[in-house]
Amino acid sequence: MRIKTFLLFICISTTLFFCCSKDIPISGYKTQNVILIVVDGPRYSETWDFINRSFIPNRSAMLQEGVVCENFYNNGTTSTVPGHVAMCTGFYQNINNGGNEYPSEPSVLQYWLKTYNQNSSKAWIISSKDKLAVLADCTNPEWHNTFKPSIDCGNLGLGTGYREDSTTYKKVKTVLANYHPTLMLINFKQPDAAAHAGDSLGYIQGIMDTDNYIASIWQYIQNDEYYKNKTTLIVTNDHGRHTAGYLDGFISHGDTCQGCKHIEFFGIGPDFKKNFVCSTYYEQIDIATTIAHLLGFKMPTSNGKVMDNILLKKN
Ligand SMILES: [Zn+2]
Ligand SMILES: [Zn+2]
Repeated sequence: MRIKTFLLFICISTTLFFCCSKDIPISGYKTQNVILIVVDGPRYSETWDFINRSFIPNRSAMLQEGVVCENFYNNGTTSTVPGHVAMCTGFYQNINNGGNEYPSEPSVLQYWLKTYNQNSSKAWIISSKDKLAVLADCTNPEWHNTFKPSIDCGNLGLGTGYREDSTTYKKVKTVLANYHPTLMLINFKQPDAAAHAGDSLGYIQGIMDTDNYIASIWQYIQNDEYYKNKTTLIVTNDHGRHTAGYLDGFISHGDTCQGCKHIEFFGIGPDFKKNFVCSTYYEQIDIATTIAHLLGFKMPTSNGKVMDNILLKKN
């Protein structure tokens, strides 16, 4: 009788262990949520490299608690959809920039939803540009149409046009409050949209407005019991713009000039170094791999590497 009870105990505890462990990140890091904000298309020379960092005062102050990489690059196609695909999938793909094509490989959001068997309301893509809705799926037959994150892109989804960043910002706040997502990709379009229109003041205003949104989102996170001290925020760009004096300068982008390739990586959260300017050469595809690393899973389809030099030691 005693032996039977003992065996039953072993059985139950083993089952419990395997069931529960599935839902617990085993990375050893403090990060349990990751929010990735993409500021669309500012040149590095107008963000971190501008004198006194005048257009990004909030991020400049947040650096006290975070890290910026000064040698961070988009080494693929320097356009919106390809840039977002690279950071989300860890794979450079010269994908159509009009929202007519799905990425060939799964994103870090799909991997996370599958790994931890989570509901789609826990991973979100919220974007001012409707075409970024293609990031929710991929053509890889093992993944297509499975583990798709929730989307809120453009006016009313794919093919409906862009919307104002202020609307995207409101959506972000609503989704954070109502769903408490673990993973979120946010796109703010204004620097890119104004620059294409040749509006240099609007371009700078877009950089300053998005800096305000970023600070407000971080403030919200650190004042919310669910997110506080266990959420990592990353700010990056899909691409820069042509180097000053080259072609039409800040108006366009899309080639391999320094201005188009050199982009921002700013990170703040419990596992990042503080007040740290990192000079290690990292690139856009490393974002997906680093997020996966923090949340305790691997992305075999990613070519990126873990950005070890910006991380604090594990507990
Ligand atoms: Zn553009
Ligand atoms: Zn260029």
